[in-house]
Amino acid sequence: MLQEAIKHLNTYFGYNSFRTGQSQIIENVLQKQDTLVIMPTGGGKSVCYQIPALCLEGTTVVISPLISLMKDQVDMLVSSGIKAAYINSSLSYDEVQDVMYAVRNGDIKLLYIAPERLENERFCSELAQIKVPLLAIDEAHCISQWGHDFRPSYRSIQQLLHLWNVKPTVIALTATATEEVSADIQKLLSIEKSNTFVTGFARENLAFSVLLGENKEAYIKKYVKANEAEAGIIYAATRKAVESVYEMLYKAGFAVAKYHGGMFEEDRTYEQNRFLNDEVQIMVATNAFGMGINKTNVRYVLHYNMPRNMESYYQEAGRAGRDGLDSECILLYSSSDEQTQRFLIDQAQDRSRIPFELEKLHAMIDYCHTERCLQSYIIDYFGDEAEQDCGRCANCTDDRPQQNVTTDAQKVLSCIVRMGQKFGKQMTASVLAGSRSKKVLEFNFHKLPTYGILRGMNAKEISSFIEFLISEKLIIVHNGQFPTISISDLGKEVLLGKEQVFRKEARIVQATVEAND
Ligand code: ADP
Repeated sequence: MLQEAIKHLNTYFGYNSFRTGQSQIIENVLQKQDTLVIMPTGGGKSVCYQIPALCLEGTTVVISPLISLMKDQVDMLVSSGIKAAYINSSLSYDEVQDVMYAVRNGDIKLLYIAPERLENERFCSELAQIKVPLLAIDEAHCISQWGHDFRPSYRSIQQLLHLWNVKPTVIALTATATEEVSADIQKLLSIEKSNTFVTGFARENLAFSVLLGENKEAYIKKYVKANEAEAGIIYAATRKAVESVYEMLYKAGFAVAKYHGGMFEEDRTYEQNRFLNDEVQIMVATNAFGMGINKTNVRYVLHYNMPRNMESYYQEAGRAGRDGLDSECILLYSSSDEQTQRFLIDQAQDRSRIPFELEKLHAMIDYCHTERCLQSYIIDYFGDEAEQDCGRCANCTDDRPQQNVTTDAQKVLSCIVRMGQKFGKQMTASVLAGSRSKKVLEFNFHKLPTYGILRGMNAKEISSFIEFLISEKLIIVHNGQFPTISISDLGKEVLLGKEQVFRKEARIVQATVEAND
């Protein structure tokens, strides 16, 4: 079966081999297993249903929510000699009838339809008269309320599936990989967990790094100067931050564009085109920029602020190096970024989402403090399997010696225990630093034996050390109006001297020295 698939890949698409994961997915589908595919944007999801469509008898139906992408896909397929058509609201009644006529005649291998169509019962029963071996559901997260783009019309897919005498095989595809969303898709479409494929998250040409405690403005200026000939995107969390970074670069004489939701649409389009057409090399933007943008030669993506979760980060950072050439993804972290994101999460209309969002925020903060391979961290986060450390990221290339920091870790852990495990990171850092703040005195924490026990470090260094211990899973963060910290089972082992803790030499000190250069 796979031989035929490779032949089609070669004949119609001009590629010689499948990418990692594609062949297993196609094989699974051809064995009539309902399948869930989680692959990042650009990973090559379409081939996973287009090739089976060519191998199977009948018309494969593809449900796809984006009208503009639907037309592009169909045009592309038709120009490669594949019989494809689409039905959406841009077609007239007569045009729809023509397409359905061709489908009934067996002239169409791939039929793309907009999910809204499924709300029309007559249309669905017409569809059920056709031989459909495979139903592909693109952007499958739209079926889940936990997804970022829930579309009620996607729920009609469940009824549609029961209309055929022979149920089509289902292939659901998405780039959204959170546990909750994929579990929801599995449940709603009755796909077995063992038929879920998470693949393609590794990007071999991207080098990730996180900089802590850096002077962000100075760093950005220095970086864009050193990379003046290259195209890059600088993401910031708020419109205000975009304006200020833009101003700073503009005043420093750089040709720069900006993009955020507070601008007039025509200004946004103008700025976007300047960047896409290589008239300016630097784009400063909020996360509003990038959807559907296909600029392949972006050499770097800098994050002026930490995004709210790993999904957003990887999607934005992943806009670097689409052409496969080496590119950099640098995140400039400061602890105030956490406050900004907490504030933004707290504005959510749907209060029930807040705990999930906070959990994701913690994973993002952990990414900023881990000393593991950053690429492996990302791949693990998405549930894909990292074969080995990347050897390119800031952590893999960081040759500072490791220090045994077990004693300092014990001091922090012990302080958390003595404070009753009921306080947050900042308060714990204040007590360890020996602060005489009102709150510290109010709770009598200046009388604890752990008070001021890390006086040798400044408050920022202690906070950063606590974050590191969180990323090492020695400390647990509990959400609530005021997040608190407690020690984990592993933390207890460290406290009892059964486990040791190692860390590279302090980063903050070094980063500050560099910024002052
Ligand atoms: P996704 O839907 O996951 O965002 P696409 O299906 O649009 O990704 O594929 C992204 C790009 O990768 C397309 O240009 C596609 O032609 C290309 N591609 C897919 N599979 C292969 C392959 N096996 N070999 C080479 N290129 C591929």
